[in-house]
Amino acid sequence: MEEKCGTTNAKALREDRKPSVVWLRQRLRRWYQSHRRMFRWRTEPRDPYVVLVAEVMLQQTQVWRVEPALERFLERFPTLEHLARAARRDVLVAWQGLGYNRRAVHLHESARAIVARFGGVIPADLVQLRTLPGIGDYTARAIAAFAYGKDVAVVDVNIQRVLSRVFFPLQSQAEQMPIETVRRIAEQLLPRGGGRWWNEALMDLGSLVCTKRSPRCTECPLRRRCQSAGMLQPAEQQAKEEPCYRNVPRRLWRGRLVELLRQRSSCTLAEIAELLFGSAAADDVAWLRNLADQMASDGVVCRDGERLELPP
Ligand code: SF4
Repeated sequence: MEEKCGTTNAKALREDRKPSVVWLRQRLRRWYQSHRRMFRWRTEPRDPYVVLVAEVMLQQTQVWRVEPALERFLERFPTLEHLARAARRDVLVAWQGLGYNRRAVHLHESARAIVARFGGVIPADLVQLRTLPGIGDYTARAIAAFAYGKDVAVVDVNIQRVLSRVFFPLQSQAEQMPIETVRRIAEQLLPRGGGRWWNEALMDLGSLVCTKRSPRCTECPLRRRCQSAGMLQPAEQQAKEEPCYRNVPRRLWRGRLVELLRQRSSCTLAEIAELLFGSAAADDVAWLRNLADQMASDGVVCRDGERLELPP
Protein backbone atom coordinates (compact mmCIF):
# COMPACT_ATOMS: atom_id res chain seq x y z
CA MET A 1 0.00 0.00 0.00
CA GLU A 2 1.24 3.45 -0.83
CA GLU A 3 2.28 5.68 2.02
CA LYS A 4 0.02 8.75 2.20
CA CYS A 5 1.57 12.07 2.85
CA GLY A 6 -1.15 13.52 5.04
CA THR A 7 -2.39 16.95 5.94
CA THR A 8 -4.60 17.97 8.84
CA ASN A 9 -7.20 19.46 6.50
CA ALA A 10 -8.61 16.12 5.41
CA LYS A 11 -12.26 17.27 5.08
CA ALA A 12 -11.41 19.84 2.47
CA LEU A 13 -9.38 17.45 0.37
CA ARG A 14 -10.60 16.36 -3.03
CA GLU A 15 -10.83 12.65 -2.25
CA ASP A 16 -10.01 11.47 -5.76
CA ARG A 17 -6.76 13.42 -5.71
CA LYS A 18 -5.01 12.36 -2.53
CA PRO A 19 -1.31 12.56 -3.37
CA SER A 20 1.00 9.74 -2.31
CA VAL A 21 4.70 9.91 -1.66
CA VAL A 22 5.65 7.15 -4.09
CA TRP A 23 3.58 8.53 -6.95
CA LEU A 24 4.85 12.07 -6.44
CA ARG A 25 8.48 11.00 -6.38
CA GLN A 26 8.13 8.92 -9.53
CA ARG A 27 6.33 11.61 -11.48
CA LEU A 28 8.62 14.37 -10.44
CA ARG A 29 11.79 12.33 -11.05
CA ARG A 30 10.71 11.56 -14.60
CA TRP A 31 9.81 15.18 -15.29
CA TYR A 32 13.07 16.46 -13.79
CA GLN A 33 15.21 14.18 -15.96
CA SER A 34 14.01 15.94 -19.10
CA HIS A 35 13.22 19.46 -17.82
CA ARG A 36 15.83 20.34 -15.24
CA ARG A 37 17.44 23.74 -15.51
CA MET A 38 21.22 23.88 -15.87
CA PHE A 39 23.14 26.52 -14.03
CA ARG A 40 26.81 27.04 -13.26
CA TRP A 41 26.14 26.17 -9.62
CA ARG A 42 24.61 22.85 -10.67
CA THR A 43 27.63 21.74 -12.71
CA GLU A 44 29.01 18.35 -11.62
CA PRO A 45 31.09 17.74 -9.63
CA ARG A 46 29.56 20.39 -7.40
CA ASP A 47 31.92 23.05 -6.15
CA PRO A 48 30.73 24.13 -2.67
CA TYR A 49 32.34 27.56 -3.15
CA VAL A 50 30.33 28.18 -6.33
CA VAL A 51 27.16 27.00 -4.55
CA LEU A 52 27.87 29.30 -1.59
CA VAL A 53 28.38 32.38 -3.78
CA ALA A 54 25.35 31.56 -5.94
CA GLU A 55 23.06 30.98 -2.95
CA VAL A 56 24.06 34.29 -1.37
CA MET A 57 23.43 36.08 -4.67
CA LEU A 58 20.08 34.29 -5.11
CA GLN A 59 18.86 35.46 -1.69
CA GLN A 60 17.46 38.67 -3.17
CA THR A 61 18.21 38.60 -6.88
CA GLN A 62 16.49 36.81 -9.76
CA VAL A 63 18.22 33.87 -11.44
CA TRP A 64 18.66 35.61 -14.81
CA ARG A 65 20.61 38.43 -13.15
CA VAL A 66 22.63 36.10 -10.95
CA GLU A 67 23.97 33.97 -13.82
CA PRO A 68 26.17 36.65 -15.51
CA ALA A 69 27.05 38.28 -12.19
CA LEU A 70 28.24 34.94 -10.81
CA GLU A 71 30.51 34.39 -13.82
CA ARG A 72 32.07 37.81 -13.37
CA PHE A 73 32.50 37.29 -9.64
CA LEU A 74 34.15 33.89 -10.12
CA GLU A 75 36.54 35.30 -12.68
CA ARG A 76 37.62 37.89 -10.14
CA PHE A 77 37.62 35.50 -7.14
CA PRO A 78 37.95 31.93 -8.47
CA THR A 79 38.33 30.27 -5.06
CA LEU A 80 37.34 30.80 -1.46
CA GLU A 81 40.96 31.68 -0.63
CA HIS A 82 41.02 34.41 -3.29
CA LEU A 83 37.84 35.88 -1.82
CA ALA A 84 39.07 35.65 1.78
CA ARG A 85 42.31 37.48 0.88
CA ALA A 86 40.57 40.24 -1.11
CA ALA A 87 40.05 43.82 0.05
CA ARG A 88 36.46 44.65 1.01
CA ARG A 89 36.39 47.42 -1.59
CA ASP A 90 37.23 44.94 -4.40
CA VAL A 91 34.45 42.59 -3.27
CA LEU A 92 31.94 45.44 -3.32
CA VAL A 93 33.14 46.47 -6.78
CA ALA A 94 32.70 42.88 -8.03
CA TRP A 95 29.18 42.84 -6.57
CA GLN A 96 28.20 45.64 -8.95
CA GLY A 97 24.72 45.31 -10.43
CA LEU A 98 23.34 42.96 -7.78
CA GLY A 99 22.25 45.48 -5.14
CA TYR A 100 21.71 44.66 -1.46
CA ASN A 101 25.45 45.14 -0.95
CA ARG A 102 25.30 43.92 2.63
CA ARG A 103 25.28 40.41 1.14
CA ALA A 104 28.73 41.05 -0.35
CA VAL A 105 30.00 42.08 3.07
CA HIS A 106 28.55 38.93 4.65
CA LEU A 107 29.94 36.70 1.91
CA HIS A 108 33.38 38.21 2.37
CA GLU A 109 33.18 37.78 6.16
CA SER A 110 31.99 34.19 5.67
CA ALA A 111 34.94 33.38 3.40
CA ARG A 112 37.35 34.71 6.04
CA ALA A 113 35.53 32.81 8.81
CA ILE A 114 35.66 29.55 6.81
CA VAL A 115 39.41 29.95 6.33
CA ALA A 116 39.98 30.86 9.98
CA ARG A 117 37.61 28.37 11.65
CA PHE A 118 37.12 25.50 9.19
CA GLY A 119 40.52 25.31 7.47
CA GLY A 120 39.14 26.72 4.22
CA VAL A 121 36.52 23.95 3.83
CA ILE A 122 32.91 25.10 3.62
CA PRO A 123 31.06 23.06 6.25
CA ALA A 124 28.31 20.61 5.31
CA ASP A 125 26.78 20.69 8.77
CA LEU A 126 23.70 22.89 9.22
CA VAL A 127 24.66 24.12 12.68
CA GLN A 128 28.16 25.13 11.54
CA LEU A 129 26.82 26.75 8.38
CA ARG A 130 24.39 28.85 10.39
CA THR A 131 27.26 30.34 12.40
CA LEU A 132 28.52 32.08 9.26
CA PRO A 133 27.59 35.74 8.64
CA GLY A 134 24.50 36.13 6.44
CA ILE A 135 23.80 32.38 6.34
CA GLY A 136 20.31 31.77 7.70
CA ASP A 137 18.38 28.53 7.88
CA TYR A 138 17.33 28.53 4.23
CA THR A 139 20.80 29.21 2.79
CA ALA A 140 22.41 26.68 5.14
CA ARG A 141 19.97 24.02 3.93
CA ALA A 142 20.52 24.96 0.30
CA ILE A 143 24.31 24.65 0.67
CA ALA A 144 24.03 21.32 2.53
CA ALA A 145 21.66 19.86 -0.08
CA PHE A 146 23.06 21.31 -3.30
CA ALA A 147 26.79 21.32 -2.53
CA TYR A 148 26.99 18.13 -0.46
CA GLY A 149 23.82 16.18 -1.37
CA LYS A 150 22.59 16.11 2.24
CA ASP A 151 19.04 14.93 2.80
CA VAL A 152 17.56 18.16 4.07
CA ALA A 153 14.36 19.84 2.92
CA VAL A 154 14.95 23.21 1.26
CA VAL A 155 11.78 25.28 1.15
CA ASP A 156 12.07 28.37 -1.02
CA VAL A 157 9.14 30.39 -2.40
CA ASN A 158 8.77 28.01 -5.36
CA ILE A 159 8.65 24.89 -3.22
CA GLN A 160 6.30 26.50 -0.72
CA ARG A 161 3.92 27.36 -3.54
CA VAL A 162 4.06 23.94 -5.26
CA LEU A 163 3.56 21.88 -2.09
CA SER A 164 0.80 24.20 -0.84
CA ARG A 165 -1.10 23.72 -4.08
CA VAL A 166 -0.50 19.98 -4.42
CA PHE A 167 -1.58 19.12 -0.87
CA PHE A 168 -4.33 21.70 -0.21
CA PRO A 169 -7.29 22.66 -2.39
CA LEU A 170 -6.51 26.34 -2.83
CA GLN A 171 -8.75 28.75 -4.74
CA SER A 172 -6.51 31.74 -5.37
CA GLN A 173 -3.08 32.06 -6.96
CA ALA A 174 -2.09 34.25 -4.00
CA GLU A 175 -2.89 31.59 -1.40
CA GLN A 176 -0.29 29.32 0.13
CA MET A 177 0.13 27.39 3.36
CA PRO A 178 2.34 28.58 6.26
CA ILE A 179 6.02 27.74 5.90
CA GLU A 180 5.98 25.43 8.99
CA THR A 181 3.20 23.32 7.47
CA VAL A 182 4.99 23.09 4.13
CA ARG A 183 8.30 22.27 5.77
CA ARG A 184 6.70 19.35 7.62
CA ILE A 185 5.36 17.99 4.33
CA ALA A 186 8.70 18.60 2.59
CA GLU A 187 10.52 16.61 5.29
CA GLN A 188 8.12 13.68 4.82
CA LEU A 189 8.53 13.69 1.06
CA LEU A 190 12.32 13.84 0.90
CA PRO A 191 13.64 10.63 -0.67
CA ARG A 192 16.62 9.10 1.16
CA GLY A 193 19.76 9.87 -0.79
CA GLY A 194 17.86 12.21 -3.11
CA GLY A 195 18.01 15.51 -1.27
CA ARG A 196 19.74 17.20 -4.17
CA TRP A 197 17.57 16.16 -7.13
CA TRP A 198 14.31 16.27 -5.17
CA ASN A 199 14.70 19.85 -3.98
CA GLU A 200 15.93 20.98 -7.39
CA ALA A 201 13.03 19.24 -9.13
CA LEU A 202 10.43 20.95 -6.92
CA MET A 203 12.12 24.32 -7.44
CA ASP A 204 12.22 23.86 -11.20
CA LEU A 205 8.58 22.80 -11.33
CA GLY A 206 7.63 25.93 -9.38
CA SER A 207 9.72 28.10 -11.63
CA LEU A 208 8.74 26.60 -15.00
CA VAL A 209 5.22 25.16 -14.59
CA CYS A 210 3.52 25.95 -11.28
CA THR A 211 4.31 29.63 -11.48
CA LYS A 212 2.82 32.22 -9.16
CA ARG A 213 0.55 33.98 -11.64
CA SER A 214 0.06 31.52 -14.49
CA PRO A 215 0.23 27.90 -13.36
CA ARG A 216 0.19 25.61 -16.40
CA CYS A 217 -1.82 22.78 -14.88
CA THR A 218 -2.49 21.06 -18.21
CA GLU A 219 1.26 20.57 -18.72
CA CYS A 220 2.03 19.64 -15.13
CA PRO A 221 3.27 16.13 -14.29
CA LEU A 222 1.44 16.30 -10.93
CA ARG A 223 -1.97 17.43 -12.20
CA ARG A 224 -3.79 14.10 -11.64
CA ARG A 225 -3.17 14.18 -7.89
CA CYS A 226 -2.87 17.90 -7.27
CA GLN A 227 -5.54 19.30 -4.95
CA SER A 228 -5.52 22.70 -6.67
CA ALA A 229 -5.22 21.65 -10.32
CA GLY A 230 -7.45 23.83 -12.48
CA MET A 231 -8.92 25.68 -9.48
CA LEU A 232 -6.64 28.66 -9.00
CA GLN A 233 -8.14 32.07 -9.68
CA PRO A 234 -5.97 35.13 -10.45
CA ALA A 235 -5.09 37.17 -7.39
CA GLU A 236 -5.55 40.90 -7.04
CA GLN A 237 -2.22 42.66 -7.25
CA GLN A 238 -1.18 44.53 -4.14
CA ALA A 239 1.48 47.19 -4.26
CA LYS A 240 4.36 46.48 -1.93
CA GLU A 241 5.10 49.29 0.52
CA GLU A 242 8.69 50.09 1.21
CA PRO A 243 10.50 53.06 2.72
CA CYS A 244 11.09 55.80 0.16
CA TYR A 245 12.80 59.17 -0.10
CA ARG A 246 11.78 61.56 -2.86
CA ASN A 247 9.50 58.76 -4.08
CA VAL A 248 12.46 56.43 -4.68
CA PRO A 249 12.82 53.28 -2.53
CA ARG A 250 15.61 53.51 0.03
CA ARG A 251 17.21 50.31 -1.27
CA LEU A 252 17.72 52.05 -4.65
CA TRP A 253 19.36 55.04 -2.96
CA ARG A 254 21.68 52.61 -1.15
CA GLY A 255 22.62 51.06 -4.49
CA ARG A 256 23.19 54.45 -6.11
CA LEU A 257 25.38 55.59 -3.26
CA VAL A 258 27.60 52.49 -3.49
CA GLU A 259 27.76 52.91 -7.27
CA LEU A 260 28.92 56.48 -6.82
CA LEU A 261 31.63 55.43 -4.36
CA ARG A 262 32.79 52.72 -6.76
CA GLN A 263 33.54 55.48 -9.29
CA ARG A 264 35.17 57.92 -6.84
CA SER A 265 37.60 57.10 -4.08
CA SER A 266 35.67 59.16 -1.51
CA CYS A 267 33.02 61.87 -1.29
CA THR A 268 31.54 64.16 1.32
CA LEU A 269 27.85 63.91 2.14
CA ALA A 270 27.28 67.33 0.56
CA GLU A 271 29.00 66.22 -2.68
CA ILE A 272 26.91 63.05 -2.72
CA ALA A 273 23.72 65.08 -2.19
CA GLU A 274 24.70 67.30 -5.14
CA LEU A 275 25.34 64.29 -7.35
CA LEU A 276 22.24 62.33 -6.33
CA PHE A 277 19.66 65.07 -5.80
CA GLY A 278 21.11 68.02 -7.74
CA SER A 279 21.42 70.12 -4.57
CA ALA A 280 22.92 69.90 -1.10
CA ALA A 281 19.86 71.11 0.84
CA ALA A 282 20.08 70.57 4.60
CA ASP A 283 17.21 68.04 4.56
CA ASP A 284 18.88 65.97 1.85
CA VAL A 285 22.24 65.94 3.62
CA ALA A 286 20.58 65.01 6.92
CA TRP A 287 18.73 62.12 5.27
CA LEU A 288 21.96 60.96 3.61
CA ARG A 289 23.78 61.12 6.96
CA ASN A 290 21.18 58.79 8.44
CA LEU A 291 21.42 56.44 5.47
CA ALA A 292 25.24 56.47 5.65
CA ASP A 293 25.08 55.53 9.35
CA GLN A 294 22.93 52.49 8.56
CA MET A 295 25.22 51.47 5.70
CA ALA A 296 28.33 51.96 7.83
CA SER A 297 26.88 49.72 10.55
CA ASP A 298 26.19 47.10 7.83
CA GLY A 299 29.86 47.35 6.78
CA VAL A 300 28.99 48.51 3.25
CA VAL A 301 30.65 51.96 3.54
CA CYS A 302 33.14 53.67 5.85
CA ARG A 303 32.20 57.04 7.32
CA ASP A 304 34.79 59.46 8.60
CA GLY A 305 32.88 62.55 9.75
CA GLU A 306 31.18 63.91 6.66
CA ARG A 307 33.30 61.84 4.27
CA LEU A 308 32.30 58.44 2.88
CA GLU A 309 34.20 55.75 1.03
CA LEU A 310 34.02 52.04 0.36
CA PRO A 311 35.67 49.91 3.05
CA PRO A 312 39.36 49.07 2.48
S1 SF4 B 1 -1.43 20.91 -11.29
FE1 SF4 B 1 -1.37 23.14 -11.42
S2 SF4 B 1 -1.52 23.87 -9.32
FE2 SF4 B 1 -1.00 21.68 -9.25
S3 SF4 B 1 1.24 21.64 -9.07
FE3 SF4 B 1 0.73 21.46 -11.23
S4 SF4 B 1 0.74 23.57 -12.03
FE4 SF4 B 1 0.67 23.66 -9.80
